[in-house]
Amino acid sequence: MDATRMEILRLQMERLRTYITTGKYWEGANESEKKRIRNQSKRFILENDSLFYVGVDGQKREVVTNLERVKEIIDNFHSISGRHSGIDATVNKITTWYWWGSIKDDVIHFIKSCTICQKQKKGNEKPKRIRKQGFVIRPVKVKEPLELVVMDLMGMGILEMRHAQMEEAADVVIQPNSDEEPETDEESEVPAVSAVEESEIDTDEEAITNRM
Ligand SMILES: [Zn+2]
Repeated sequence: MDATRMEILRLQMERLRTYITTGKYWEGANESEKKRIRNQSKRFILENDSLFYVGVDGQKREVVTNLERVKEIIDNFHSISGRHSGIDATVNKITTWYWWGSIKDDVIHFIKSCTICQKQKKGNEKPKRIRKQGFVIRPVKVKEPLELVVMDLMGMGILEMRHAQMEEAADVVIQPNSDEEPETDEESEVPAVSAVEESEIDTDEEAITNRM
């Protein structure tokens, strides 16, 4: 819906309102236009000076002929509960109360321009791999608990790296279980990225994330 189309709708609705109230047509109306307005009038009612569209279900919806109001209504119903509803849900909610002839198109356009929805959509697209200190982290999406069971088959090199990272994160020194001398701070540092072949990790990750 743009300003021009809204103006056409507003004029149509004004003519309809006049016909419903007075039974008269506008000046210059031809026969087919008169016929159309007579047919249209069967689907609209006037109540307290407000025009309502009556759907096939017999429910009445307030006729909206103001572009600003259209935006306001879509905005409200799209994010009514703090969550942003999708196209169908938003259309269903709006059409319970309002009518302006191009609700679905306008909702689609609105949601396509909603920055929050577009951000969310991007987030749902193929996740980018996050590379951090030699790990290749790929999110695994599941819908319910135990849908996917994975085993950590990585070698000691990785475990040692994790151990060292945990140590670093917790800022505590974990004593090794062996009889050996406690490691010095220098030795327990996180190994460099190059210590692990990235291609190796790729393969391992692939294998462990296969659905069992
Ligand atoms: Zn949104």
